[in-house]
Amino acid sequence: MGTPLESRAEQAEEVITRLEEAYPDSTISLRYSNRLELLIAVMLSAQCTDERVNKETKHLFEKYDGPEAYAAVSQEELAEDLNSITYYNNKAKYIRSACTTIIEEHDGEVPDTMDELTELSGVGRKTANVVLQHAHDVVEGIVVDTHVQRLSRRLGLTNEEYPEPIEQDLMGIVPEGYWQQFTHLCIDHGRATCTARNPDCADCVLADICPSAKGDSEIDLASGESW
Ligand code: SF4
Repeated sequence: MGTPLESRAEQAEEVITRLEEAYPDSTISLRYSNRLELLIAVMLSAQCTDERVNKETKHLFEKYDGPEAYAAVSQEELAEDLNSITYYNNKAKYIRSACTTIIEEHDGEVPDTMDELTELSGVGRKTANVVLQHAHDVVEGIVVDTHVQRLSRRLGLTNEEYPEPIEQDLMGIVPEGYWQQFTHLCIDHGRATCTARNPDCADCVLADICPSAKGDSEIDLASGESW
């Protein structure tokens, strides 16, 4: 296996340095032009690819221009407008309810605190972190999506399994100035090389420091199972 650096903090810094070199333009791939659009795009992206969400929101954001429009539309019509997205029925319900709360309790503005955001229907800590970081420039944590979860475990940065404890581990070792960028770097590397089913370890810039590297290691530390 590759040999990780001595401490997890050093390992995290080395991972960031190398991935920054590999992906200098790494950033969020969802398209949006205001805070509400970002919130909705992130809500739609749960269990769905950003590519599909971007395709759908192109039309959606033309039709619905503010929280009032989502709050006023019927469940059936909004669900129909979202029907290429996974779990579109539930997502339509969450969006209508979140927009009603935004109108009634936040004067029509997307709130800017973790507590207020996570009180909106369908908004968990991950969604709230993305909205805080990209819509409000507030970085309170690290967004742990499926790529961050998998890569952090493969690279020996955490032994935790679930997003919230993984986030706590990462906040202790990733320099605070990189909390936002760390996620985008992991997503880019997770898409390009360290894919879920068949990572390309032979062509990976992290192979020599990765304790899961195929060929060297028998085990994928993300799943705990043999390659
Ligand atoms: S592609 Fe392989 S070597 Fe690179 S980070 Fe993923 S598991 Fe490790």
